[in-house]
Amino acid sequence: MISIYDTLARKLSQIESSGSQVTVYCCGPTVYRDAHVGNLRTFLLADLIHRALIQQGAQVNFIQNITDVGHMSEDVQGEDKILQQAHLEKRDPFEIARAYEAEFHKDLQRLNILPASAYPRASETINLMQHYISKLIDGGFAYATTAGSVYFDSQSFESYGAISGNRLNSLKPGHRYEFNDEGDKRFHADWALWKAAGSRTEMIWDSPWGLGFPGWHIECTAMSLSLLGNRIDIHVGGIDLRFPHHENERAQSNSIINSEAVGMWVHGEHLLFEGRKMSKSSGNVVLLQDVIDRGLDPLALRLCLLENRYRAQMDLTWAALEAANSTLRRWRTSMGAWGSETLAKADAAVATAIKKDLDTPRAILRLRAIEKDVKIQPHDKRAIFLHADQVLGLELIRAIINKPISPGQELLLSQRATARELKNWSQSDLLRDELLAQGILISDGPTGQSWSWT
Ligand code: AMP
Ligand code: ZN
Repeated sequence: MISIYDTLARKLSQIESSGSQVTVYCCGPTVYRDAHVGNLRTFLLADLIHRALIQQGAQVNFIQNITDVGHMSEDVQGEDKILQQAHLEKRDPFEIARAYEAEFHKDLQRLNILPASAYPRASETINLMQHYISKLIDGGFAYATTAGSVYFDSQSFESYGAISGNRLNSLKPGHRYEFNDEGDKRFHADWALWKAAGSRTEMIWDSPWGLGFPGWHIECTAMSLSLLGNRIDIHVGGIDLRFPHHENERAQSNSIINSEAVGMWVHGEHLLFEGRKMSKSSGNVVLLQDVIDRGLDPLALRLCLLENRYRAQMDLTWAALEAANSTLRRWRTSMGAWGSETLAKADAAVATAIKKDLDTPRAILRLRAIEKDVKIQPHDKRAIFLHADQVLGLELIRAIINKPISPGQELLLSQRATARELKNWSQSDLLRDELLAQGILISDGPTGQSWSWT
């Protein structure tokens, strides 16, 4: 079976399924903006696990939530991320959330990420969250205040801090939590399960404690416990979620079911871009669309990320993406040249690398050696690459189209180049869409327009 590093156990652990299927939960996007390539790295980690399990013959029940309420802004105290964006864009908050959720699904598709069993939305799980909050109050793990909020009593959970190492006695008052304006809580490390609406008028619901809205952490507890049957074999997220999000989720879930809810906590490391943390204020946030606009295959991002260990911080660069793009093209061309058989065959070294903590860089090195090895028959190379691709998800048998363009398409291309020169953006967009409909993808680079077949 596959072993992966478990953040809580602080060692490699074998994946153990609690029943006939392996249950996997990955914290999903907060849909107030497009996911950047760092977010996508984390989502791709969940897909890598998903695919590796399927290759092993496991049945996987995979859930990823959509956070469309309750995730508070780090910049503005007491402000919900979705509401903040809605006010900025002067749009309805739910309209914002649905628009970015659609973009998220588009990204998943373009990255060849296998669909989850369900993508539950926080805003549609309010009753369920209230049900679990009531359970926590009844069990003595949470308390309601006169102002109409409900807090988790962090001191009621003995092993609080075990994932991150942030023990309660070392968490000082004033430590930066995701929001600090919780005047009526009893202890500084307690966190809100339900927040009284106060002056907030949008995205609020009725509850046994009055009008309000849920906290972010209870959302993942509610969705994972209810949809995965009180046992999450593998819980995935980015390293920044270790504390407080996963710590709080563990305290809530374990208190509700009175046992360890998660079998293994898996965290993907941070992604930097060209040596810097991606942030809106630095203006260096890179989206999948930016990769595509450079004329690169979205799966070049996938290959690039797979060439690095999920557990190591990684610096993504345009040069690395360009290199991955040409490797991808070369492999696809070779796959065509190596025959047309659909038989897949495992290579022992590739399989071992994946099974030992998802060592994709090692697996890819081995594939590169196989590619060059003249002693291996072409049809065997194809079979091994096909098998590896079940886990890598690079669509290696996608044919490279090298057909010439028609005179009519040639004309459209030159018309579009002219429209761009004249800064006639609406016309140039129209022509780009027309060409795309004909299977021609345009990208605009510093040296002008270039094209490729989709
Ligand atoms: P969010 O949409 O902000 O809730 O984040 C979605 C996921 O992306 C979470 O699992 C985060 O931990 C993860 N994440 C955020 N920034 C990065 C980054 N730069 N590199 C890798 N993962 C990230
Ligand atoms: Zn979560």
